[in-house]
Amino acid sequence: MKHKTFRGGVHPKGYKELSLGSPIEDFLPSGDLVFPVNQHIGKPAKPIVKKGDAVLAGQLIAEADGFVSANIVSSCSGTVKAIEERHTISGGRATCIVIANDGLFNAAPGIGIDREASAFSGPQILDAIKWAGIVGLGGAGFPTHVKLAPRNPEQIDYVIANGSECEPYITCDDQLMRTQSNGIVEGMRLVLRLFPNARGVIAIEDNKPEAIEAMAHACEGDANLSVLPVMAKYPEGGERSLIGVVTGRQLRFGQLPADLGCVVCNVSTLNAIYRAVCKTEPLIGRLFTVSGDAVSNPHTLFVRIGTSCSELLKAAGGIKPGSEARKILCGGPMMGIAMSTLDAPVAKNNNALTVLASDEVELAEQQMTACLRCGRCGHVCPIGLVPQMMAEAAERQDYERYEKKLYGLDCIACGSCTYICPAKRPLMQLFKQTKAAIMAAKRK
Ligand code: SF4
Ligand code: SF4
Repeated sequence: MKHKTFRGGVHPKGYKELSLGSPIEDFLPSGDLVFPVNQHIGKPAKPIVKKGDAVLAGQLIAEADGFVSANIVSSCSGTVKAIEERHTISGGRATCIVIANDGLFNAAPGIGIDREASAFSGPQILDAIKWAGIVGLGGAGFPTHVKLAPRNPEQIDYVIANGSECEPYITCDDQLMRTQSNGIVEGMRLVLRLFPNARGVIAIEDNKPEAIEAMAHACEGDANLSVLPVMAKYPEGGERSLIGVVTGRQLRFGQLPADLGCVVCNVSTLNAIYRAVCKTEPLIGRLFTVSGDAVSNPHTLFVRIGTSCSELLKAAGGIKPGSEARKILCGGPMMGIAMSTLDAPVAKNNNALTVLASDEVELAEQQMTACLRCGRCGHVCPIGLVPQMMAEAAERQDYERYEKKLYGLDCIACGSCTYICPAKRPLMQLFKQTKAAIMAAKRK
């Protein structure tokens, strides 16, 4: 049966089988844990510990500073070693709280206590989410307690759980849905209590039959919940694509999903909400995939936030004998960020480390030619943009045309155009730079 999908998109090879074979391992790091204070969209959190303080796992170490901000909790027990600038996974540097891990993972008092979901009112659910420091775990990093408090909650008629996971190599959401479907569904029910007129739809790509079955089983008997298999196609998991597929509504640049009556949460975020409310667990860890053709033993681990990527690569057996790490990405090959060092910590919104034996961008640069005017980039753009013309305007730095005539700021940097381009033009990279230049000029 052909499932629903969006216009455009591409079909990159998935390589999901690499990391799906092994059971999920609970990885306990041995090195220092490093917590950037800016692991979310919004104002960085404010450290509330100082060098020399003893901390426990689950203890608040930096508190949300302002409305759009998020708490940060320690994922280990130990001693605060430093508060200093360190590399982050995105290539920048940020203030980080460094904790010398004592290897005991002793929990703070009150963590892990079972609680009844029905005992929580709507505002108490939001408070628990804020307390736990939950942000969008699908990559966005937007503070969840803010996302779930739109101006008109009664106008929300869809809560969409994003279980698409369309990026090649990454399988942590698939594994979560297979193994913790009840937690995701309970998280969805908690969110639905905030939106009295909404129904819940769990959208899963149809190349994940085990996840679809597990989630459908967990939803059984609840008329307000359904599982919607969607066609496996990249970027099916993009917020705009998913809202379009589930509701038929089209999100434009500058609009929020709530403007169209929708709230979209990643399945990992929903599970974190369940654990915060019903298990008194702040966000100390998440499922994380270490994969790629250069990795010895690709698999998915439960990873403590703040763990160094170098430890995680070692946990996956390191680099395969005879292979070479030519490209290291935080995330997958389509939307991931190239990393210059493995000495960077996993943040809340990071879901994968992908290590590849070849650098496709480097190869493409060697093979790049002038635009062939084939139009393929326009056919695959999920937003309906014309990347070929956007590239011409961007190269001429004609930002007026780029923004006003070609709607270039609507680009979601999915990379579908770059993937399909026979002339190997680095379109997405150019669009990201152009958007950054336009936004910087606007801020001035
Ligand atoms: S990167 Fe931007 S322009 Fe290219 S296909 Fe994706 S949304 Fe369209
Ligand atoms: S896909 Fe590449 S070669 Fe074809 S029109 Fe677009 S930019 Fe030009």
